Amino acid sequence: MTVRVCIVGAGPVGVVAAIACARKGMRVSLFEAEREIDHSPRAATTHPSTLEMLAELGLLEEFQSLGLVARYFQFWDGATKTLVAEFDHEVLRGETPYPFVVQTEQHKLCELGLRRLSATPNVEMRLGTSVSDIAQDSNGVRVTTDGPGGAERHAFDYVIGCDGGRSTVRRCLDIEFEGYTWPERFLVLTTLFDFQAALGCCPRSYISDPQEWTNLFKVMGDDLKGRWRAVFPARENESDEEAFSEGAVRKRLGKLFETHPMDLLVHRNIYRVHQRVAKSFREGRVFLAGDAAHVNNPVGGLGLNCGIHDAMELAETLHQVASGQAGEDLLDRYERRRRPLNIEYVQQQTVANKKRLEERDPKVRQANFYELRRMAADPRLHKQFLMRTSLIESVRRAREIA
Ligand SMILES: Cc1cc2nc3c(=O)[nH]c(=O)nc-3n(C[C@H](O)[C@H](O)[C@H](O)COP(=O)(O)OP(=O)(O)OC[C@H]3O[C@@H](n4cnc5c(N)ncnc54)[C@H](O)[C@@H]3O)c2cc1C
Repeated sequence: MTVRVCIVGAGPVGVVAAIACARKGMRVSLFEAEREIDHSPRAATTHPSTLEMLAELGLLEEFQSLGLVARYFQFWDGATKTLVAEFDHEVLRGETPYPFVVQTEQHKLCELGLRRLSATPNVEMRLGTSVSDIAQDSNGVRVTTDGPGGAERHAFDYVIGCDGGRSTVRRCLDIEFEGYTWPERFLVLTTLFDFQAALGCCPRSYISDPQEWTNLFKVMGDDLKGRWRAVFPARENESDEEAFSEGAVRKRLGKLFETHPMDLLVHRNIYRVHQRVAKSFREGRVFLAGDAAHVNNPVGGLGLNCGIHDAMELAETLHQVASGQAGEDLLDRYERRRRPLNIEYVQQQTVANKKRLEERDPKVRQANFYELRRMAADPRLHKQFLMRTSLIESVRRAREIA
C-alpha cells in the first residue's frame, strides 16, 4: 500500500521534504497556511553539503541559476577596516562536487520547488490551508485543516511538521522548545550599493566590531541584478521606528561606507533571534523538521541548511520503513541523528560565530583574529574549518549514528 505523508508548511524545508518523499513514491499532501510564499529577506546561504542534496533532487541547476556562487568567505576587523582572514571553499574539491556556497534567497527555492511539485502526480498541494489540529493512534494520524472551504479532516500514515519556529504541530504534540531568545533583535538593510567595488570585500563578509558588528552579504534579487544585505544587531531597547529612521540607517550604512547613497536602500527588516531546540523531534507518527525543530541566530547561515538535511534524512527513513526494508524502530534514528547534530554543528557554532563578531575585550578580539589567521594560513586547519562550516562533517557524522 502507498504510504500517505502529510507535510505541514511550504517553507523551504517543507518543499524539499515534499519533493524528497514524492520521489520515493509516497503520496504527499502539502498544506501551507499562506496563499503565497513570503518574499521577505531571510536565509540565502546554501552550503556544499546542501547543494549535494538539491542536486540529488534535480533542483540544483535552476536553484544556482537564480543566485550567485560565493567561493570565498572573509572575516574583517571593522574597527581598523582591515581583512583578518579569507577562507577558500576550493580546498574542499575532492570532498564535494560543489566546493563553493550558493547564495539564493529561500523564497526562490520554495517557488521553484512548488512548480516542480505541481507537475508531480502523487502530490496534492493546498495553499491558504492551515493545519489546526493533529491526533494520532498506532494506525495513523488524523489532521484537521482550515482552508477556503472551511474545516476538513484527513487521514495519513505520517505527518512532518515543517511549519516554522511557531509550529502548530509542535504545540499539538506538546513538545517543549528548549533554549533562549537573544535580547537584541537583528536589523537587515538591503541596498543596491556595491560593497564589493567600494570596500574590496567578497559576497560573504563578516565584520567584527566592538561597537556594532555587521554581517554583509550579496544576493541577486528577483531581477538578478544583485543587491547587498547588511545585518546589524539592534540595540536592546531600540524600537522599529528608531531602527528604521533615516538617521539610524544612514549612521549604520555610513559606518561601512561613509557616503553610502540613501536612495539605494531598498528594504528594511527587523526580527527576533532565538537559540532553541525541540526537546523531541518525534512523537509516534509525527515528526518535526527545520525551524519547527530548531532555531538559531543566522551568523554562519546554518539553520536552513540543517533543516534541509532533516528533510532528506526523514524522507529516506520513512521510505525504508514504508518499503519494508527496515522496521518501525528505525524511526527513532531520525531524532538520534538530527537532534545532537543540530546542537553541535548549528547551535554551538552559531553562538560562537555571534560571540566572535560582537567581542568587545581587545585582548580576546586579538586572540580571535590570531586564531582565524592561523587557520586560514595552515592548509590542514583551513580545510578542517570549512569541512565543519559547510556541514560536510556533520553529514558524515550522521552516517556513523546507527
Ligand atoms: C525574519 C527572519 C529572517 C531570517 N533571516 C535569516 C538569515 O538571514 N539567514 C539565515 O540563515 N536564516 C535566516 N532566518 C531563518 C530561516 O529563514 C529559517 O531557518 C528557514 O525559513 C526555515 O525554513 P522552514 O521551512 O523550516 O520554516 P519557514 O520558512 O518558517 O516555513 C514555515 C512555513 O509553514 C507555514 N505554516 C506555519 N504554520 C502553519 C500551519 N499551521 N499550517 C500550514 N502551514 C503553516 C508558514 O506559513 C511557512 O510558509 C530568518 C528567519 C526569519 C523569521
